Amino acid sequence: MPAQLTVVGSVNLDLVARVERFPRAGETLTALSFERIPGGKGANQAVAAARLGADVRFVGCVGRDGAAAEALVNLHGLDLDIRETDAPTGLALIAVDTAGENQIVVVPGANAEVDASSVSGSVLCQLEIPDGAIAQARAGADWLCINAAPARPFGVEADLVVANRYELDAIGRQRGLVALTLGADGAVLLEDGNEVARASAPKVSAVDGTAAGDAFTAALVVSLLEGRERAEALRNACAAGAIAASRFGAQPSLPTADEVDAILRR
Ligand code: ADP
Repeated sequence: MPAQLTVVGSVNLDLVARVERFPRAGETLTALSFERIPGGKGANQAVAAARLGADVRFVGCVGRDGAAAEALVNLHGLDLDIRETDAPTGLALIAVDTAGENQIVVVPGANAEVDASSVSGSVLCQLEIPDGAIAQARAGADWLCINAAPARPFGVEADLVVANRYELDAIGRQRGLVALTLGADGAVLLEDGNEVARASAPKVSAVDGTAAGDAFTAALVVSLLEGRERAEALRNACAAGAIAASRFGAQPSLPTADEVDAILRR
């Protein structure tokens, strides 16, 4: 039986410019290319979990504007609970340099109005939604994973926290299960501060780190809900993150379960 997962989170339209290098303060640069790509950590993780084989319900919020249809294009086929509000659909202004590094400015818009009062079961959320929605998710969930991105302290206890080094510094010490991502060096799973598993990331040529953390988080959550051992779940997550880092864009870069299996067999 597939993993059953509710994702509560943001929907953004990513406005992505590729640049030779990032502009300095006050400097204007010309982009190498420009694309509009569906994104938002919530939508990315919902799409990732579905591509990895989970039955996904997605709870989010968009504006009554043209950006909403563009941003939601990869979510058709999921069980959707998406409210429309007067605020504009969330946007992310993204620059990606030739080394694959990115700089991102998020404009939350409708994501500030996400309501998670209807959720139950296993729930995954990120921090691009209000504190109130995270508290609602905690109240309704039997099992809650919080991906602590973008970093800020959150006042609830999660069953699993996923964070990179900067995010873990910002949220402080966590009890319980924490997955710490280390970029090209893979990830570590900690329980009450003690290492319980470690996985390296498959070697890839990284072109764009956007959504690597989203692919990692979704793969870890889906693998654990499928009942896999922690070490195997962490390996799958690192493989999914590496694949996303090797491709351009957010949702277009998210791998399927077959692609994760294939890179682990290499
Ligand atoms: P975030 O993008 O949230 O900062 P990371 O950069 O740590 O998170 O990436 C998440 C996961 O994606 C890593 O744990 C790793 O498995 C994979 N990953 C990211 N960048 C690379 C890379 N350059 N090569 C291989 N795997 C990567």
